[in-house]
Amino acid sequence: MKVRFAPSPTGYIHVGNCRTLLINWLFARHHGAEFILRLDDTDKERNERRYEEGLLEDLQWLGLNYDQYLKQSDRMGLYEAAVSKLKAIGRLYACYETPEELEFKRRRQVSQGLPPLYDRGSLHLSEEEKQKYIQEGRTPHWRFLILPEDVTWDDMVRGPLHFEGSKLGDPVLIREDGMPIYTLASVVDDHDMGITHIIRGEDHIANTAVQLQIFKALGANLEKLHFGHLSLLQSADGGELSKRLGTGSIRELRNDGILPMAINSILAKIGTSDSIQPFSHMNDLIKTFDMEKFSRGTPKFSIVELQMINQKLVHQLSLEEARSQSGLPHIEENFWTAVRPNLKTLHELKDWWTICREDIKTKTTAPEFIETALRLLPLEPWTTTTISDWLTVLKQETGRKGKDLFMPLRQALTGHDHGPEFALLLNLMGHALTKKRLEGSLK
Ligand code: GLU
Repeated sequence: MKVRFAPSPTGYIHVGNCRTLLINWLFARHHGAEFILRLDDTDKERNERRYEEGLLEDLQWLGLNYDQYLKQSDRMGLYEAAVSKLKAIGRLYACYETPEELEFKRRRQVSQGLPPLYDRGSLHLSEEEKQKYIQEGRTPHWRFLILPEDVTWDDMVRGPLHFEGSKLGDPVLIREDGMPIYTLASVVDDHDMGITHIIRGEDHIANTAVQLQIFKALGANLEKLHFGHLSLLQSADGGELSKRLGTGSIRELRNDGILPMAINSILAKIGTSDSIQPFSHMNDLIKTFDMEKFSRGTPKFSIVELQMINQKLVHQLSLEEARSQSGLPHIEENFWTAVRPNLKTLHELKDWWTICREDIKTKTTAPEFIETALRLLPLEPWTTTTISDWLTVLKQETGRKGKDLFMPLRQALTGHDHGPEFALLLNLMGHALTKKRLEGSLK
């Protein structure tokens, strides 16, 4: 078995195509199949190098390896051979319409209530007519001749699907500049590489119908080819995902402090009969993967759910994992234990490190109280009861209690209203830093 993920380098991978990526990868690792990463980069005008580099980086960060990496731009010879073959069997024909002429025809069909299919205006041109167009300076694009045969397949997600050949328009396979279009290049590659399972978004269903005829024309064994079309994600409030999440790119989530396994956990299970929960290890996702679990309904992606899963995963990290994933290799066990329960993302770990170990500037709105606290601050060594004893004395001395007691201290010490448990925090900071911070808040 062989699968592939085939993005075009026209943007960074986002939540939507990351899901397709992950499902292909899990399919491969679950079934012991090969996983091919293919760059669909024949559209030179829209490709950008940074997106290709970004793709490889994102895959690595997500923990998704691949068995082979190839680029369509390196495989032009294969597409040329396929083109010659299709021309030789009369399934590829030259078309001379300009984009304006095609648009005009399309509008007329739509206004007459007809489906906007290509009318095969160029199919039966005589040699002289073709020569006349060429002399006018027109360069042909090339279309695939669809046969009026039915196309059917048993979709891994959607069950049996059926298209009538007569209702599929002849697709353009070669552009005017001679470049093969995705529709062809993808089939040639899938055929050449021996891909057995094509798993992609439901927006490709109509492509599949057309591409199955191309596979057949190129002599592929359709028995060995399986398709699965995943329903596209929608945002939790029912809107289009891209409009809700901005670009929704994986690197944006990464910059926001989301862990790779939070993304993997949600994207592996959304739209399946399994519940969405935090998975710490890929192996558990591989083990529980099953194509049969994917439903045809529209899955709803919620950023809030992702953040919740992320928070749970952060709380489950061991000290070692926290050290390596936060880029803070020097944090100590007591620091991690004290700070962990309050973290939403690992980014916040860095903030707390700065607060507990380095220099920050805070302000106080209760200077008299802070002065008293400073005056009564016990000298080291501190025992397990030193801080609570100090608070008891402060309470007696100032009459403050509860929030009135804690909040001004917390703000003067950390600049925040919330954070680690008070005694743990103080013990992390120690006498010298506590004193310095309280003094600083008075200035
Ligand atoms: N490059 C295509 C896309 O990004 C690939 C679709 C496919 O999987 O065949 O939509």
